[in-house]
Amino acid sequence: MINIVLFGPPGSGKGTQAQNLIEKFNLKQVSTGDLFRYNMKNDTELGKLAKSYIDKGELVPDQVTTDMLIDELKKPTDTNGFIFDGYPRTTAQTEALETIVKEELNDKIDICLSLVVEDKILVERLLKRGETSGRSDDSNVEIIENRIKEYYTKTAEVAELYKQQGKYVEVNGVGEIEEISQKLFAEVEKIK
Ligand code: AMP
Repeated sequence: MINIVLFGPPGSGKGTQAQNLIEKFNLKQVSTGDLFRYNMKNDTELGKLAKSYIDKGELVPDQVTTDMLIDELKKPTDTNGFIFDGYPRTTAQTEALETIVKEELNDKIDICLSLVVEDKILVERLLKRGETSGRSDDSNVEIIENRIKEYYTKTAEVAELYKQQGKYVEVNGVGEIEEISQKLFAEVEKIK
């Protein structure tokens, strides 16, 4: 199995690159953002709770997010591994993921692929995506800036943890989508 954490600030292209990685290596994408949006669309209790944070550009509390992730990993799948997109976003989530992957999959995280994009480009990309995505958190510059702030105050430290484990690889997230995918593929091939 290959288990990949796809890391980077909002708007760095995690969702797009996850699509290419899942096709190339037959992986299952687990996106906590997508799972929250699914719950919001269906107006579940979890969706209502998540919305109160997401609409402000804040992170949803760790426990709620982690419980949702565990439920997702319990579903059977015949893929060669997982891509975690948008999780972990805090130190506590990073530690939880290690335990969950061990307990639910009897496995480990192999690599953290980090997409690097400067802030100015992130804001431009997210505002542009907001024109068509229908995502309330993409449509307003203050919310976007808060999401980026949350990234630096709570999420950036996740990179340090994977660096300490020797699993952290940075890839430039600006350029042609295909070209970035090829760089990510090459990094995965190295550890296969
Ligand atoms: P994303 O689609 O990954 O950009 O996530 C959209 C929003 O969902 C984030 O701004 C957070 O409010 C929430 N969210 C997604 N994943 C997480 C996570 N791992 N921890 C906390 N909140 C999350």
